Amino acid sequence: MKITEHIKNAQGKALFSFELLPPVKGQSIKHIYDTIDPLMEFNPPFIDVTYHREDYIYKEQPGGLLQKIAYRKRPGTVAICAAIMNRYKVDAVPHLICGGFTKEETENALIDLQFLGIDNVLVLRGDARQTENAFYPTPGGHAYASDLLEHVVDMNQGKYLHDAIDVTDQSTFCIGVAGYPEKHFEAPNLETDFKYLKKKVDLGANFIVTQMFFDNQKYLEFVKKCKEYDIHVPIIPGLKPITHSRQLISLPKTFHIDIPVDLSDAVRACKSELDVKEVGIEWLISQSKELIEMGAPVLHYYTMGNAEPTKRIAEAVF
Ligand code: FAD
Repeated sequence: MKITEHIKNAQGKALFSFELLPPVKGQSIKHIYDTIDPLMEFNPPFIDVTYHREDYIYKEQPGGLLQKIAYRKRPGTVAICAAIMNRYKVDAVPHLICGGFTKEETENALIDLQFLGIDNVLVLRGDARQTENAFYPTPGGHAYASDLLEHVVDMNQGKYLHDAIDVTDQSTFCIGVAGYPEKHFEAPNLETDFKYLKKKVDLGANFIVTQMFFDNQKYLEFVKKCKEYDIHVPIIPGLKPITHSRQLISLPKTFHIDIPVDLSDAVRACKSELDVKEVGIEWLISQSKELIEMGAPVLHYYTMGNAEPTKRIAEAVF
């Protein structure tokens, strides 16, 4: 079912959902089930699975030469989505990125998703490779999420890249896009970032999932600004509890977000990492309760492969 239909059917009651990362290559899909099993009691109508572009690694050859090898650390997004739908009978939402795909490969990936009965996709530009200092599109691929989104919209209208003969079936993907309450780090200013967010919605995005934030005021301001820009699709807040003191540095560095001073002070005052986790969970519980009062349609948790903090939050909130 489409995420917009799940939200409509909930009639104003906030839904619970979460995001998973595919396990690193060589690990079992059991890691996925171990994350999902404890969270199923909160009835998630959908579960997101991230997509990871291949990166480069360098291997030393006899003689000292370095060989550059393309390597995907976390493969398996589409198969994990199919396994989730089969095992738990909930909707799985694959993330689909521009990086690493030509347009032809994107189209074929979308056909795979359509044939698997996947109703929703979250379309993204994708992160830069870790070994590169900026995002570089794949030659012959899409450069921005809006380009990829147009491609999905075209397929929803039965339009393929090269004239398909006898089109008798067309996809009906419900399309999500990313939004940044604290601005995407590459955007020169918030207004420009909103201009492109608006473009994604005008092209046909059906819902927005936000980058994580720790100050609900940022979400409120984002929702307000979306209205000013005539953006009226559901805005799903993305949430992540702090579970380790090192995240005071790593989260702002990786995700370009602020940590409120009350939270960073509370983490710094902790005597152990166990205490840090408690502070992080308590913060997210009160953040989640307030977001429900603010009318957030879904609370979407970034589990990053660790169900326990999200379970504790869901027990207190749902
Ligand atoms: P875009 O919407 O394309 O925007 C990227 C930047 O370009 C922005 O600064 C925007 O203002 C600007 N821009 C947009 N359109 C144009 C244009 N036409 N001309 C000029 N500038 C433009 N990454 C992954 O690799 N895999 C994942 O699974 C993944 N999941 C995510 C889930 C969520 C909810 C979020 C918030 C992010 C996720 N990301 C993921 C990270 C995301 O790919 C990065 O933040 C990426 O840098 C931007 O992606 P986007 O879709 O927002 O890009």
